[in-house]
Amino acid sequence: SITYLPGKEPHPRETRRILKNINREGWNTSIDCYLADGGYEELKKALGMEPKAVIDEVKKSGLRGRGGAGFPTGVKWTFIPPNNTKPVYLVCNCDESEPGTFKDRYIVHQDPHQLIEGMVISSYAVGAHLAYIYMREEFPIAAETMLKALQEARERGFLGKNILGSGYDLEIHLHRGAGAYICGEETALLNSLEGVRPYPRIKPPYFPAAIGLYGCPTIVNNVESLCQVKHVIAMGGEAYGQEGAKRSPGTRIIGVSGDVRRPGYYEIVSGSMTFGELLYDVCGGPREGREFKAVIPGGSSSKVMRTDVEYKTRNPDGTTGKISFFDIPLDLDSIAQYGSMSGSGAVIVMDDSRSMPWALNNINRFYAHESCGQCTPCREGCPWMMKLSTRILEGKGAPSDVDLLIQVANQIEGKTVCAFGEAASWPTQAMVSKFKEEFVALTDPFNACLPHSAEGREQ
Ligand code: NAD
Repeated sequence: SITYLPGKEPHPRETRRILKNINREGWNTSIDCYLADGGYEELKKALGMEPKAVIDEVKKSGLRGRGGAGFPTGVKWTFIPPNNTKPVYLVCNCDESEPGTFKDRYIVHQDPHQLIEGMVISSYAVGAHLAYIYMREEFPIAAETMLKALQEARERGFLGKNILGSGYDLEIHLHRGAGAYICGEETALLNSLEGVRPYPRIKPPYFPAAIGLYGCPTIVNNVESLCQVKHVIAMGGEAYGQEGAKRSPGTRIIGVSGDVRRPGYYEIVSGSMTFGELLYDVCGGPREGREFKAVIPGGSSSKVMRTDVEYKTRNPDGTTGKISFFDIPLDLDSIAQYGSMSGSGAVIVMDDSRSMPWALNNINRFYAHESCGQCTPCREGCPWMMKLSTRILEGKGAPSDVDLLIQVANQIEGKTVCAFGEAASWPTQAMVSKFKEEFVALTDPFNACLPHSAEGREQ
């Protein structure tokens, strides 16, 4: 039986699969430890299958990407052009930077071989002989751990030439970023790998699966997604697909931060619990004397949800009804149905002590700092939103600034090369429209006649 370090035991409602070895008693990152626990068995199984059969298993499993967008992994793999003659690359996106997201970091710090095994299986399936781990600069210890693990895997024949005598060759390189959030956007990441300025590329029509690194087909998957592949092979695609929510099966790591008694990472079967069960039963409810006020369900770029309102719902029989926030199931489609997204699984909880203008200003500062500057609406709009929200927060704003804030956000959304535009504008749109009274209360009509609010105002 598996035991965990004191205070790190999983909650009874968790299903630890990806996080099985995290904070496990006696566990370490060496390959010996991993092998003693049955490591690399799924790689042996996969190498005995045809690559197409591995892809079919992943497609059958219904596995959806865990980086945030939830795109079906197996389907993405089939987008490599059938008549391709160029090299194929696999890239692991380990640039985890979405505020509130802290799941991949545990895997790369404590269970590097799980990722390597998932990457070798995935590379074999898509026909890649060269793969990269793009790791955010802020993980220096994980980088050392991963380099050591890669070397161990090479020495034991799980990586390099003729892996386990199968005739299949693969090399994995670790590449460290330099601390830019935009490099988590897959095409910016590819540009960064190529050594050029990490401006996102226009997609569609050409997604990396068709034209990616060095103009070659490239599969970019998140750390957790690649680890899930190992478990798809272990369970079989069909069995995996039957677990949890029908359209987003499998387990999923939820990172809860903010105003709950027990914040932390929880690996749960998708759709197996509601927000109420997560926040009260698993996370212990709000802090002493406080009530929940709002939840950002999928990282800072997802739209905030009020916890005190009812959401319109469509019943299976086609009629409509109302549902409390706490009764919304925790799975990709359910959260999308109620106007937000599950994103990277980062649940940020705010109680009634929190000021929404303060929270938004904090988020706006982040996006203003991280905009890469390629697209004018984002380059100009993000700092503008930051200045407006700062002005409102400092009590120097006019009531009209609240509407202006939303207008600026609307001018960014949908008008940029990459999803950063949406990521930056959705928090403003959602927070201001859902908590407008808090923003207006901070403004002063008198400020409308101050110079900064006049025509030609400072932006
Ligand atoms: P996207 O929907 O454009 O793409 C998702 C994936 O599917 C990509 O790999 C893309 O190449 C592929 N894809 C989509 N359509 C395709 C097609 N027709 N053909 C081939 N491939 C196709 O989303 P995105 O811009 O890659 O990601 C946005 C998400 O990233 C946001 O939802 C956010 O939650 C998340 N995010 C996560 C982090 C983090 O730290 N984990 C950071 C920032 C953003």
